[in-house]
Amino acid sequence: MYLFKTPKLLKWAYSGLTWSKNSPGVYLTFDDGPVPEATLDVLDILESFQIKASFFCVGDNVVKHKAVFEKIVAAGHSVGNHTQHHLLGWKTDNKEYIENVAMGFESMRQAGYKGPLYFRPPYGKAKKSQIRAIKKRFQCEFIMWDVLSYDFVSTLPQEVSLQKSLQHTKDGSIVLFHDSIKTIDKLKQILPLYIEGVLQKGLEFKPI
Ligand SMILES: [Zn+2]
Repeated sequence: MYLFKTPKLLKWAYSGLTWSKNSPGVYLTFDDGPVPEATLDVLDILESFQIKASFFCVGDNVVKHKAVFEKIVAAGHSVGNHTQHHLLGWKTDNKEYIENVAMGFESMRQAGYKGPLYFRPPYGKAKKSQIRAIKKRFQCEFIMWDVLSYDFVSTLPQEVSLQKSLQHTKDGSIVLFHDSIKTIDKLKQILPLYIEGVLQKGLEFKPI
């Protein structure tokens, strides 16, 4: 079963996290970059529609592809930390996890980023003790999502990803896609259609 819409119970259980915004707008987010093979295509699509989005970056990719990271920021998109090595919080000891989060922020800082601190746990999974410790240490906002495109499931027809994502998108929605090598072929197909569909609903896109 694919949960395109984040369940209310989960939002309630983790109410200290940002699942959607109270302000008007649709907040497109892309996880796991920056990688030139995917992120540059996403930037081109966003530019062709003249819209801004947000990128949750893996620190290791920021170090490896600093120029791509700089291009995201220079284009006016928001960026957030997605840990240095894409760790799964539930299976990682707290000290190791929090240090990896610190490395992620440091990689962004060394690449010249000076903006507000946003964090998204890989797989959307972090222990409550990790969430508390990260918020306290970095004073960052946890950005989750309320619409998941399932762009990473290669067996799911792209029409289903597109239609379900569109159906659940409303004002304030935070929508999750991936700028990764694995998803880029599907993304190049569905992202322009998704953006057109949202604009046809009379909604506008904003960065976090
Ligand atoms: Zn991820």
